[in-house]
Amino acid sequence: MYFYCETCKKKYPLNSHSYRCTCGGMFRLHKDQSDELTREISLGEFQTPLLPIRTGKLDFLLKLENLLPTGSFKDRGACTLINELHHLGIKKIALDSAGNAGASIAAYAGAAGMDCTVYVPDDISDAKVAQIEDYGAKIVKVPNGRMNACAVVKENLGDAYYASHVYNPLFFEGMKSMAREMVEQLGGAVPDYVFMPVGNGTMLIGLFQGFMDIGRLPHFVAVQSKKCAPLYEAYHGLPPEPKRTTIASAIRIEKPKRLKDMVEIIRASSGDVVAVEDADILQARKFLGAHGIYVEMTSAAALAGAEKYFQAGKPDNYKVVLPMTGNGLKR
Ligand SMILES: [Zn+2]
Repeated sequence: MYFYCETCKKKYPLNSHSYRCTCGGMFRLHKDQSDELTREISLGEFQTPLLPIRTGKLDFLLKLENLLPTGSFKDRGACTLINELHHLGIKKIALDSAGNAGASIAAYAGAAGMDCTVYVPDDISDAKVAQIEDYGAKIVKVPNGRMNACAVVKENLGDAYYASHVYNPLFFEGMKSMAREMVEQLGGAVPDYVFMPVGNGTMLIGLFQGFMDIGRLPHFVAVQSKKCAPLYEAYHGLPPEPKRTTIASAIRIEKPKRLKDMVEIIRASSGDVVAVEDADILQARKFLGAHGIYVEMTSAAALAGAEKYFQAGKPDNYKVVLPMTGNGLKR
Protein backbone atom coordinates (compact mmCIF):
# COMPACT_ATOMS: atom_id res chain seq x y z
CA MET A 1 0.00 0.00 0.00
CA TYR A 2 1.12 3.54 -0.64
CA PHE A 3 -0.27 7.03 -1.15
CA TYR A 4 -0.13 8.70 -4.54
CA CYS A 5 -0.96 12.21 -5.68
CA GLU A 6 -4.32 12.45 -7.44
CA THR A 7 -2.89 15.16 -9.70
CA CYS A 8 0.67 14.15 -10.71
CA LYS A 9 0.59 10.48 -9.51
CA LYS A 10 3.83 10.82 -7.48
CA LYS A 11 4.08 8.05 -4.84
CA TYR A 12 4.52 8.55 -1.09
CA PRO A 13 4.94 5.92 1.66
CA LEU A 14 2.13 5.65 4.24
CA ASN A 15 4.43 6.90 7.01
CA SER A 16 5.39 10.02 5.03
CA HIS A 17 5.15 13.19 7.07
CA SER A 18 3.85 14.91 3.92
CA TYR A 19 0.08 15.08 4.03
CA ARG A 20 -0.32 16.25 0.45
CA CYS A 21 1.87 16.28 -2.65
CA THR A 22 4.55 18.89 -3.26
CA CYS A 23 2.47 19.86 -6.33
CA GLY A 24 -0.47 20.62 -4.02
CA GLY A 25 -2.49 17.56 -5.05
CA MET A 26 -4.41 15.49 -2.49
CA PHE A 27 -3.37 11.92 -1.67
CA ARG A 28 -5.20 8.78 -2.64
CA LEU A 29 -4.53 5.25 -1.42
CA HIS A 30 -3.14 2.54 -3.66
CA LYS A 31 -4.08 -0.89 -2.33
CA ASP A 32 -3.35 -4.20 -4.07
CA GLN A 33 -5.76 -7.13 -3.78
CA SER A 34 -3.26 -8.84 -1.51
CA ASP A 35 -2.92 -5.82 0.82
CA GLU A 36 -4.76 -6.37 4.08
CA LEU A 37 -5.56 -3.74 6.66
CA THR A 38 -4.35 -4.54 10.17
CA ARG A 39 -6.82 -4.77 13.05
CA GLU A 40 -4.85 -5.05 16.29
CA ILE A 41 -6.55 -2.15 18.07
CA SER A 42 -10.28 -2.48 18.69
CA LEU A 43 -12.86 -0.67 20.78
CA GLY A 44 -15.53 -3.23 20.01
CA GLU A 45 -16.75 -1.94 16.64
CA PHE A 46 -19.83 -3.69 15.32
CA GLN A 47 -22.33 -3.58 12.47
CA THR A 48 -24.65 -0.68 13.30
CA PRO A 49 -28.41 -1.32 13.08
CA LEU A 50 -30.55 -0.17 10.16
CA LEU A 51 -33.75 0.96 11.85
CA PRO A 52 -37.00 1.70 9.95
CA ILE A 53 -38.78 4.93 10.88
CA ARG A 54 -41.89 6.62 9.50
CA THR A 55 -42.49 10.38 9.43
CA GLY A 56 -46.05 10.94 8.25
CA LYS A 57 -46.22 9.48 4.74
CA LEU A 58 -42.49 8.88 4.36
CA ASP A 59 -40.49 5.86 5.48
CA PHE A 60 -36.74 5.89 5.98
CA LEU A 61 -34.01 3.61 7.31
CA LEU A 62 -31.82 5.10 10.02
CA LYS A 63 -28.25 3.77 10.10
CA LEU A 64 -27.43 4.15 13.77
CA GLU A 65 -23.80 5.28 13.60
CA ASN A 66 -24.38 7.20 16.83
CA LEU A 67 -24.06 3.84 18.64
CA LEU A 68 -20.39 3.28 17.64
CA PRO A 69 -17.76 3.24 20.45
CA THR A 70 -17.14 7.00 20.73
CA GLY A 71 -20.62 7.96 19.52
CA SER A 72 -20.00 8.86 15.89
CA PHE A 73 -19.45 7.36 12.43
CA LYS A 74 -15.91 8.69 12.50
CA ASP A 75 -14.92 5.60 14.50
CA ARG A 76 -14.85 3.66 11.23
CA GLY A 77 -12.17 5.89 9.74
CA ALA A 78 -10.30 6.35 13.02
CA CYS A 79 -10.11 2.58 13.60
CA THR A 80 -8.49 1.94 10.22
CA LEU A 81 -6.24 4.99 10.36
CA ILE A 82 -4.90 4.33 13.86
CA ASN A 83 -4.44 0.62 13.26
CA GLU A 84 -2.28 1.33 10.21
CA LEU A 85 -0.29 4.07 11.96
CA HIS A 86 0.25 1.77 14.95
CA HIS A 87 1.42 -0.97 12.59
CA LEU A 88 3.87 1.50 11.01
CA GLY A 89 5.28 2.30 14.46
CA ILE A 90 4.01 5.88 14.63
CA LYS A 91 3.86 7.05 18.25
CA LYS A 92 2.90 10.71 18.04
CA ILE A 93 0.03 12.27 16.11
CA ALA A 94 -1.76 15.61 15.81
CA LEU A 95 -4.96 16.59 14.04
CA ASP A 96 -7.61 19.27 13.81
CA SER A 97 -11.29 18.57 14.30
CA ALA A 98 -14.65 20.14 15.03
CA GLY A 99 -15.07 17.44 17.69
CA ASN A 100 -16.27 14.04 16.47
CA ALA A 101 -13.18 13.06 14.48
CA GLY A 102 -11.03 14.35 17.33
CA ALA A 103 -12.86 12.13 19.81
CA SER A 104 -12.69 9.07 17.55
CA ILE A 105 -9.00 9.43 16.74
CA ALA A 106 -8.13 10.30 20.36
CA ALA A 107 -9.92 7.17 21.58
CA TYR A 108 -8.18 4.79 19.18
CA ALA A 109 -4.86 6.59 19.72
CA GLY A 110 -5.36 6.08 23.47
CA ALA A 111 -5.99 2.38 22.95
CA ALA A 112 -2.83 2.22 20.80
CA GLY A 113 -0.75 4.08 23.41
CA MET A 114 -0.06 7.01 21.10
CA ASP A 115 0.60 10.60 22.05
CA CYS A 116 -2.28 12.60 20.51
CA THR A 117 -2.95 16.33 20.27
CA VAL A 118 -6.25 17.66 18.89
CA TYR A 119 -6.59 21.24 17.63
CA VAL A 120 -10.19 22.40 17.93
CA PRO A 121 -12.10 25.65 17.31
CA ASP A 122 -12.43 27.49 20.63
CA ASP A 123 -16.25 27.48 20.48
CA ILE A 124 -16.40 23.66 20.56
CA SER A 125 -18.85 22.21 23.09
CA ASP A 126 -17.56 21.38 26.59
CA ALA A 127 -18.91 17.84 26.20
CA LYS A 128 -16.66 17.20 23.20
CA VAL A 129 -13.60 18.69 24.93
CA ALA A 130 -14.21 16.52 28.01
CA GLN A 131 -14.57 13.41 25.88
CA ILE A 132 -11.33 14.05 23.93
CA GLU A 133 -9.39 14.85 27.12
CA ASP A 134 -10.73 11.77 28.88
CA TYR A 135 -9.28 9.64 26.09
CA GLY A 136 -5.90 11.04 27.17
CA ALA A 137 -5.37 13.47 24.30
CA LYS A 138 -4.18 17.05 24.64
CA ILE A 139 -6.53 19.79 23.47
CA VAL A 140 -5.34 23.01 21.84
CA LYS A 141 -8.14 25.55 21.39
CA VAL A 142 -7.74 27.80 18.36
CA PRO A 143 -9.71 31.05 17.83
CA ASN A 144 -11.44 32.07 14.58
CA GLY A 145 -13.13 28.86 13.60
CA ARG A 146 -12.57 25.39 12.28
CA MET A 147 -10.51 26.43 9.23
CA ASN A 148 -8.02 28.23 11.44
CA ALA A 149 -7.57 25.11 13.61
CA CYS A 150 -6.55 23.35 10.39
CA ALA A 151 -4.01 26.07 9.57
CA VAL A 152 -2.56 26.16 13.11
CA VAL A 153 -2.06 22.39 13.47
CA LYS A 154 -0.09 22.29 10.20
CA GLU A 155 2.27 24.99 11.49
CA ASN A 156 2.83 23.15 14.77
CA LEU A 157 3.24 19.51 13.76
CA GLY A 158 6.92 19.24 14.77
CA ASP A 159 7.70 15.50 14.83
CA ALA A 160 4.02 14.50 15.03
CA TYR A 161 2.31 12.64 12.18
CA TYR A 162 -0.64 14.62 10.82
CA ALA A 163 -3.47 12.11 11.39
CA SER A 164 -6.02 14.13 9.45
CA HIS A 165 -9.45 12.72 8.68
CA VAL A 166 -9.66 15.14 5.74
CA TYR A 167 -6.26 14.59 4.10
CA ASN A 168 -5.42 10.99 5.03
CA PRO A 169 -6.86 8.39 2.62
CA LEU A 170 -6.62 5.67 5.31
CA PHE A 171 -9.49 7.39 7.09
CA PHE A 172 -11.68 7.16 3.97
CA GLU A 173 -10.63 3.53 3.55
CA GLY A 174 -12.15 2.82 6.97
CA MET A 175 -15.40 4.56 6.04
CA LYS A 176 -16.06 2.03 3.27
CA SER A 177 -17.36 -0.56 5.76
CA MET A 178 -20.56 1.48 6.14
CA ALA A 179 -21.40 0.86 2.46
CA ARG A 180 -20.74 -2.88 2.80
CA GLU A 181 -22.98 -3.08 5.88
CA MET A 182 -25.89 -1.31 4.17
CA VAL A 183 -25.81 -3.75 1.27
CA GLU A 184 -25.62 -6.73 3.61
CA GLN A 185 -28.53 -5.40 5.68
CA LEU A 186 -30.62 -4.82 2.53
CA GLY A 187 -30.17 -8.42 1.46
CA GLY A 188 -27.57 -7.62 -1.17
CA ALA A 189 -29.28 -4.52 -2.60
CA VAL A 190 -27.70 -1.08 -2.83
CA PRO A 191 -29.96 1.60 -1.24
CA ASP A 192 -31.77 3.86 -3.72
CA TYR A 193 -30.80 6.98 -1.81
CA VAL A 194 -28.45 7.93 1.00
CA PHE A 195 -29.06 11.34 2.59
CA MET A 196 -26.25 12.65 4.75
CA PRO A 197 -25.06 15.84 6.39
CA VAL A 198 -21.90 17.02 4.63
CA GLY A 199 -19.12 19.24 5.95
CA ASN A 200 -15.66 18.00 4.94
CA GLY A 201 -17.30 15.11 3.13
CA THR A 202 -15.62 12.24 4.99
CA MET A 203 -18.82 10.16 4.91
CA LEU A 204 -19.72 11.07 1.32
CA ILE A 205 -16.27 10.29 -0.06
CA GLY A 206 -15.90 7.13 2.05
CA LEU A 207 -19.34 5.82 1.00
CA PHE A 208 -18.60 6.65 -2.63
CA GLN A 209 -15.40 4.62 -2.50
CA GLY A 210 -17.18 1.80 -0.67
CA PHE A 211 -20.02 1.58 -3.18
CA MET A 212 -17.57 1.84 -6.10
CA ASP A 213 -15.92 -1.33 -4.74
CA ILE A 214 -19.36 -2.96 -4.63
CA GLY A 215 -20.07 -1.86 -8.19
CA ARG A 216 -23.21 0.28 -7.91
CA LEU A 217 -23.91 3.71 -6.43
CA PRO A 218 -27.01 4.91 -4.59
CA HIS A 219 -28.11 8.48 -5.30
CA PHE A 220 -26.15 10.53 -2.78
CA VAL A 221 -27.99 13.57 -1.45
CA ALA A 222 -25.80 15.86 0.62
CA VAL A 223 -27.55 18.05 3.19
CA GLN A 224 -26.14 21.33 4.47
CA SER A 225 -27.45 24.11 6.67
CA LYS A 226 -28.42 27.25 4.73
CA LYS A 227 -26.12 29.10 7.13
CA CYS A 228 -23.02 27.32 5.83
CA ALA A 229 -23.55 25.68 2.46
CA PRO A 230 -20.38 25.74 0.31
CA LEU A 231 -21.18 22.43 -1.42
CA TYR A 232 -24.76 23.52 -2.11
CA GLU A 233 -23.44 26.71 -3.70
CA ALA A 234 -20.71 24.95 -5.71
CA TYR A 235 -23.05 22.20 -6.94
CA HIS A 236 -25.85 24.56 -8.00
CA GLY A 237 -23.49 27.25 -9.34
CA LEU A 238 -24.70 29.85 -6.84
CA PRO A 239 -22.65 32.82 -5.63
CA PRO A 240 -21.04 32.16 -2.20
CA GLU A 241 -22.98 33.60 0.74
CA PRO A 242 -21.26 34.66 3.97
CA LYS A 243 -20.80 31.57 6.18
CA ARG A 244 -22.55 31.77 9.54
CA THR A 245 -22.76 29.68 12.68
CA THR A 246 -25.28 26.85 12.45
CA ILE A 247 -26.65 24.53 15.13
CA ALA A 248 -25.31 21.69 12.95
CA SER A 249 -21.81 22.35 14.27
CA ALA A 250 -20.19 19.21 12.84
CA ILE A 251 -20.83 20.43 9.27
CA ARG A 252 -19.88 24.06 9.80
CA ILE A 253 -16.98 23.85 7.33
CA GLU A 254 -16.56 27.07 5.38
CA LYS A 255 -14.00 25.85 2.83
CA PRO A 256 -13.94 22.05 2.51
CA LYS A 257 -10.63 20.78 1.09
CA ARG A 258 -12.21 18.14 -1.14
CA LEU A 259 -15.07 20.27 -2.52
CA LYS A 260 -14.34 19.43 -6.16
CA ASP A 261 -14.36 15.67 -5.37
CA MET A 262 -17.68 16.04 -3.61
CA VAL A 263 -19.34 17.84 -6.54
CA GLU A 264 -18.10 15.10 -8.89
CA ILE A 265 -19.37 12.33 -6.59
CA ILE A 266 -22.86 13.85 -6.34
CA ARG A 267 -22.97 14.18 -10.14
CA ALA A 268 -21.68 10.63 -10.69
CA SER A 269 -24.46 9.30 -8.44
CA SER A 270 -27.17 11.45 -10.08
CA GLY A 271 -27.72 12.82 -6.61
CA ASP A 272 -28.38 16.29 -5.31
CA VAL A 273 -27.44 18.82 -2.64
CA VAL A 274 -30.17 20.22 -0.40
CA ALA A 275 -29.85 23.16 1.98
CA VAL A 276 -32.17 23.31 5.00
CA GLU A 277 -33.08 25.91 7.61
CA ASP A 278 -31.73 25.44 11.13
CA ALA A 279 -35.35 25.51 12.32
CA ASP A 280 -36.05 22.41 10.20
CA ILE A 281 -33.00 20.65 11.65
CA LEU A 282 -34.23 21.47 15.15
CA GLN A 283 -37.67 20.12 14.34
CA ALA A 284 -36.22 16.93 12.83
CA ARG A 285 -34.09 16.41 15.92
CA LYS A 286 -37.13 16.85 18.15
CA PHE A 287 -38.97 14.25 16.10
CA LEU A 288 -36.10 11.79 16.35
CA GLY A 289 -35.73 12.39 20.09
CA ALA A 290 -39.45 11.88 20.64
CA HIS A 291 -39.09 8.53 18.85
CA GLY A 292 -36.22 7.40 21.06
CA ILE A 293 -33.34 8.35 18.77
CA TYR A 294 -30.99 10.70 20.61
CA VAL A 295 -28.61 12.25 18.10
CA GLU A 296 -26.64 15.44 17.60
CA MET A 297 -28.15 18.28 15.57
CA THR A 298 -26.00 17.46 12.55
CA SER A 299 -27.54 13.98 12.28
CA ALA A 300 -31.03 15.47 12.20
CA ALA A 301 -30.03 17.50 9.12
CA ALA A 302 -30.21 14.25 7.10
CA LEU A 303 -33.86 13.78 8.07
CA ALA A 304 -34.70 17.45 7.47
CA GLY A 305 -33.09 17.19 4.03
CA ALA A 306 -34.86 13.95 3.12
CA GLU A 307 -38.25 15.34 4.14
CA LYS A 308 -37.64 18.44 2.03
CA TYR A 309 -36.45 16.43 -0.97
CA PHE A 310 -39.46 14.09 -0.85
CA GLN A 311 -42.04 16.68 0.16
CA ALA A 312 -44.22 15.70 -2.82
CA GLY A 313 -43.95 12.05 -1.72
CA LYS A 314 -41.69 9.13 -2.50
CA PRO A 315 -42.32 5.72 -4.08
CA ASP A 316 -42.78 3.17 -1.26
CA ASN A 317 -40.26 0.77 -2.73
CA TYR A 318 -37.39 3.28 -2.53
CA LYS A 319 -34.92 2.31 0.17
CA VAL A 320 -33.69 5.59 1.64
CA VAL A 321 -30.92 5.40 4.23
CA LEU A 322 -30.16 8.24 6.64
CA PRO A 323 -26.93 7.74 8.61
CA MET A 324 -27.28 9.12 12.14
CA THR A 325 -23.83 10.62 12.42
CA GLY A 326 -23.40 11.29 16.13
CA ASN A 327 -24.73 10.79 19.65
CA GLY A 328 -26.90 13.50 21.21
CA LEU A 329 -24.80 13.62 24.40
CA LYS A 330 -22.01 15.35 22.46
CA ARG A 331 -23.69 18.75 22.36
ZN1 LIG B 1 1.40 15.81 -7.14
